Amino acid sequence: MAATIIDGKKVAAEIKEGLKKEVEELKAKGINPALAVVLVGENPASKKYVANKERTCEALGIKSVGHKLPESTTQEELIRLVDDLNADPGVHGILVQLPLPKHMNEKEVMHRIAPEKDVDGFGPDSLGRLVLDEPGFIPCTPHGAIKMLEAYGIDPAGKKAVVVGRSVIVGKPLALLLLRRNATVTICHSKTPDLRGECLSADILCVAVGRAEMIKGDWVKEGAAVIDIGINVREDGKLVGDVEFERAKERAGWITPVPGGAGPMTIAMLMYNTVQAAKGSL
Ligand code: NDP
Repeated sequence: MAATIIDGKKVAAEIKEGLKKEVEELKAKGINPALAVVLVGENPASKKYVANKERTCEALGIKSVGHKLPESTTQEELIRLVDDLNADPGVHGILVQLPLPKHMNEKEVMHRIAPEKDVDGFGPDSLGRLVLDEPGFIPCTPHGAIKMLEAYGIDPAGKKAVVVGRSVIVGKPLALLLLRRNATVTICHSKTPDLRGECLSADILCVAVGRAEMIKGDWVKEGAAVIDIGINVREDGKLVGDVEFERAKERAGWITPVPGGAGPMTIAMLMYNTVQAAKGSL
């Protein structure tokens, strides 16, 4: 039986609808939620992501404060901007679009963002809180993945979850969130010897690698929930995920499409974090 397609666009729209109301309530109390969006250089994908984030802010009534800096910006200049934004009471969230140009030290920038404005959740305070199961900003893409599972009634408790990819922005935090929800979690990476076997054992299979269709359809366990986070341009120019969608959907119970799955959810959860920051509730 073909899988239920997890409609990330629809789940994201529902979340954004709720946030829009929360923004109105905040404004009625005199709080004008604002997100600073910092883009350094001319990376076309980054430019597109930033434009998308700014558009979504506008649609929800969140003020977006854009800072577009040239490729030649120095580390010191960027740090100075982050310090200014940290000190600005009119800015609730700070997002520095990654990747930064090669001459910059991303880690130092992430460490510099004030914990109460770290809406991407990549700073040490946010990530530490995630490990400690304390309230804090959760990185947006893994949070979106969890929200999609929730929206389709897929409870990780007692299930075997496999996360392919161990990046700080997706794989690791997603594994922690699944663990928090009582899944038995395996994290796979480029040194995992039997990736196919690991994938086949998963009731919940989450993939964040960045290689077009590397997880084959017949690596998916019958009835599994598949969350595909990858965004890749295939040789023929088509946008595809890390999972071979057409074949995987014949075996899976649920599967996210690319595009229309993890992507829209990531932006929705960024807006969620921004509203939380404006509420000062973290
Ligand atoms: P990274 O490149 O930081 O991490 C990739 C991970 O995949 C690494 O842990 C790496 O292992 C692992 N990996 C690479 N090759 C293999 C292999 N052959 N077998 C098993 N594991 C492998 O990527 P990100 O986590 O930043 O992103 C992953 C994908 O998700 C990308 O396509 C990206 O575009 C997409 N993405 C989508 C978002 C969205 O909004 N939808 C947001 C963020 C990312 P090792 O650690 O051993 O090198």
